[in-house]
Amino acid sequence: MPDNHKKSHHGAHPSTAVLTRGFNPHLSVGSARPAVFRSSTYVFSSPEAAERAFDLTSGRAVAEPGETPDLVYSRFNHPNAEILEDQIVPLEDGAEWAVVFNSGMAAIMTALLSSLKPGDTMVYTVPLYGGTQGLIHDLLEPFGVRCIPVMAGRGDQIDEAIAATGGLRVVLMETPANPTMVMTDIRRAVAAASKLPERPVVMVDNTFLGPAFQHPLQLGADIVLYSATKYLGGFSDLLGGLVLGKDAELGQKIRVKRGLHGNILQPDECWILDSRLPTVSLRMNRQSKNAQRIAESLVGRPEIRKVYYPTLFDDPEQIRIRLSQCDYAGAMISIDLHGGKPAAFEFLRNIQLARNAVSLGGVETLVCHPKTTIHSGLSPEEMVIAGITDGLVRISVGIEDWRDLLRDFEHALDAAAKTVQLSETVPSK
Ligand SMILES: *Cc1c(COP(=O)(O)O)cnc(C)c1O
Repeated sequence: MPDNHKKSHHGAHPSTAVLTRGFNPHLSVGSARPAVFRSSTYVFSSPEAAERAFDLTSGRAVAEPGETPDLVYSRFNHPNAEILEDQIVPLEDGAEWAVVFNSGMAAIMTALLSSLKPGDTMVYTVPLYGGTQGLIHDLLEPFGVRCIPVMAGRGDQIDEAIAATGGLRVVLMETPANPTMVMTDIRRAVAAASKLPERPVVMVDNTFLGPAFQHPLQLGADIVLYSATKYLGGFSDLLGGLVLGKDAELGQKIRVKRGLHGNILQPDECWILDSRLPTVSLRMNRQSKNAQRIAESLVGRPEIRKVYYPTLFDDPEQIRIRLSQCDYAGAMISIDLHGGKPAAFEFLRNIQLARNAVSLGGVETLVCHPKTTIHSGLSPEEMVIAGITDGLVRISVGIEDWRDLLRDFEHALDAAAKTVQLSETVPSK
């Protein structure tokens, strides 16, 4: 929306700017909150304006400072996408622009295809979100991109892969890694990438800790990727994705590709997602506090082999990375239960307040068994790398009262304990 409006809010803090910039009530007949513009096409102010808008939309020309080109067609751009993109920028420390997509996968795919062509190479950390892993094997590799995996958290291996790989165009990191929260040092990978004569684009999937607790652009990354379905959306009721960055040319390349891929988020969903932005930080803070209390209370329970949570890391390097790049530990906990799959399933059967579902980041607490659901497509070696065992249960903590959730989990652990005793006394067939 109009630039003059943006400038009048310059310098405001993120929690203020998210409510005040990027939206001009006069363009929504005075409405205090944005209207929804559901048109698929827009009337041009003149044939010349139409010609100019097409030159800009297709990337043949670059907008002059302060220029507000006519809208064209909603696959390229529409007012609710513009409002959302403008309002989310202050939430991501270091961002200059945002591009919204109809899912996290769409955002990741379009960002990657904007920087990779056949013959190029990408280095990526493992484990990755299962869908992203699938995108690499089923789209990028057949397309002719060489994709080199490196273990999350292993700074030495990542440095080496970045230094030794010819034709490197993208470094893709996901930190913390799902589901065991292994962290990768973003600054260190950026430093390794910066030593190359032609710097690859450094991308970070920031879905688990951003935008509240981890700021990859401030650590030197070029692009931040989100599944907005998770914390940004926050209510498990919409799909969305975002790419944010600093370099204007890179942003324009991604925008043009989005027009070709046809994966912009629809006006209604943009409007809903936009209404969730002012509370992202409030929700994430509450969720993270809840999770930390629950994780720390679960330590020492005899049914649990290990609690995975960033404030409970025992590896000094992991502790160092957490302290250097994350403000708070976030709201994802994984617990590895004694008694394997039967114990994990019994735990899931006995939760009463939390719900057995995949996904994360919503205000309600969700629990799942990674090995048989979200990570069921991994090979046995990939399971080992990802730290996924039969007894592993992943918890996305919501905003409920943490004491009720803890009681719910303790009750389910009591039930899970019975399966362990059973399997130990009854000889297996
Ligand atoms: C959910 C998720 C995605 C995919 O996002 P969708 O919105 O489901 O397409 C990508 N990365 C991470 C880390 C995720 O959790």
